Amino acid sequence: MTSQTTVRTLLILGASGDLTGRLLLPGLARLVAKGRAAGLRLVGAGSDPWTPEQWRERVHSSFAATAEAAAAEGQEALQALEKETVYHQLDVTAGGGLAALLRSLEGPVAVYFALPPKISQLACEALQPEDVPDGTRLVMEKPFGSGEESARSLNRTLVRLVPEDHIHRVDHFLGKATVLNILGLRFANNFLEPVWNRHHIEKVEIIFDEDLALEGRARYYDGAGALRDMIQSHLLQIMALMAIEPPATVGERDLRDAISAVLRASSVRAPFAASTRRARYTAGSVAGKAVPDYAREEGVDADRGTETLAEIQIGIDNWRWKDVPFVLRSGKALGAKRKEAVVTFRPVPHLPKGFTGVDSPNQLRIGFGPDTLQFDVDVNGPGDIFSLSRATLQAELSASELLPYGEVLEGVLAGDPLLSVRGDTAEDCWRIVEPVLLAWQRNDVPLEEYDAGSAGPASWPTAGRADSGS
Ligand code: NDP
Repeated sequence: MTSQTTVRTLLILGASGDLTGRLLLPGLARLVAKGRAAGLRLVGAGSDPWTPEQWRERVHSSFAATAEAAAAEGQEALQALEKETVYHQLDVTAGGGLAALLRSLEGPVAVYFALPPKISQLACEALQPEDVPDGTRLVMEKPFGSGEESARSLNRTLVRLVPEDHIHRVDHFLGKATVLNILGLRFANNFLEPVWNRHHIEKVEIIFDEDLALEGRARYYDGAGALRDMIQSHLLQIMALMAIEPPATVGERDLRDAISAVLRASSVRAPFAASTRRARYTAGSVAGKAVPDYAREEGVDADRGTETLAEIQIGIDNWRWKDVPFVLRSGKALGAKRKEAVVTFRPVPHLPKGFTGVDSPNQLRIGFGPDTLQFDVDVNGPGDIFSLSRATLQAELSASELLPYGEVLEGVLAGDPLLSVRGDTAEDCWRIVEPVLLAWQRNDVPLEEYDAGSAGPASWPTAGRADSGS
């Protein structure tokens, strides 16, 4: 599919940064090679005194893997973008510099703030509304603020500059394909929606267990921890999609209204010692590779008590979900990698006497990246017709030909904020987790330990199992 972008220039601030090289430029490459960013210009900016060749070399190396696999047309498009791209040395926090650069670029421009969060905020504060040409889009990375109040203040700064639907708060975890896969499954199947409520569903778990450990990211991660890094941003968005009321369309307004409504009804119940858990990994091994104790990793301040595994239980106070626990869990250095939502149905009200064998509640599992579906059902046999056993129906869901950041950028370039977190939602996600963060700071909830490579602290039940309780 070929599309003409509405954005003419993509300006990446933070040209030398990790995000730009590892995720943004490769994501852009795939988009360009597939002919889905026709006519786009790329401009990089950073505080380093780079020569144009240095920037071009960075773009070239980040494009290389895609270029190698691309058809001739795609390779030409990538080469054309590389040839034309320019670099500007700029301190974005110094007044006037960014404004002057914006005026000099062909619009509409999308400004991607691939900068440390504090610098992004200062850069936006340094801009005046008249510095920002009509049609400009601002792309903000996570974390968006550091709490509800700071997210609100950042929102105020941004809407002074551009309208809300020109602000893209990135959540790269939920690509467009994943969002639509969840919505398609929920709302295109008449056998599911009538049971998708408190009468038939016992609990919903959203699990993101990583086998990766710190991987040298102490500078960022030790100040964040699993709750801020994964749950506050990404997992709450997945929970919202699992819980929303059916929207009239899959357009950004209807969908983001529905997401906002469900998050507004969500909270973590006190006492937090019962509804939340946190832990930190100690030395161990993952897939045969030794992992050092988190507290002894370079750059980690052990006294901070940063959690590398977090679990919170959310209640949604509305008609559909009253008293159904939504358990969100994410951690690092775990023995098995898992990214999935697990829906556990209630047991049948009466199993006819005479049946034997397994009678455990049905579970539906949606795996993320690659997106998959597994539905556990109890069926008869084989062998003894009276004996029930578990069968799993499986399907692979639609995959995207783009990388997650390609999907993000495609939305930005086309002016579609569908995948962006709306301002009110960004504030609400902080409102939900902030009381937990404060309780953890007060040590109301003990920081437990688990060996790297294990399934978590021995006392925690295995998440995602029908009998694991919560
Ligand atoms: P890095 O520290 O690697 O890069 C930051 C960039 O900002 C550097 O290019 C730096 O240039 C530039 N910069 C800093 N100060 C200024 C300034 N005053 N003027 C102009 N440029 C400046 O950070 P990351 O790339 O890792 O992260 C960027 C953002 O993306 C953060 O918000 C992060 O939370 C988010 N993010 C990152 C992910 C990742 O995997 N890296 C994943 C998801 C989100 P210089 O070195 O020359 O100062």
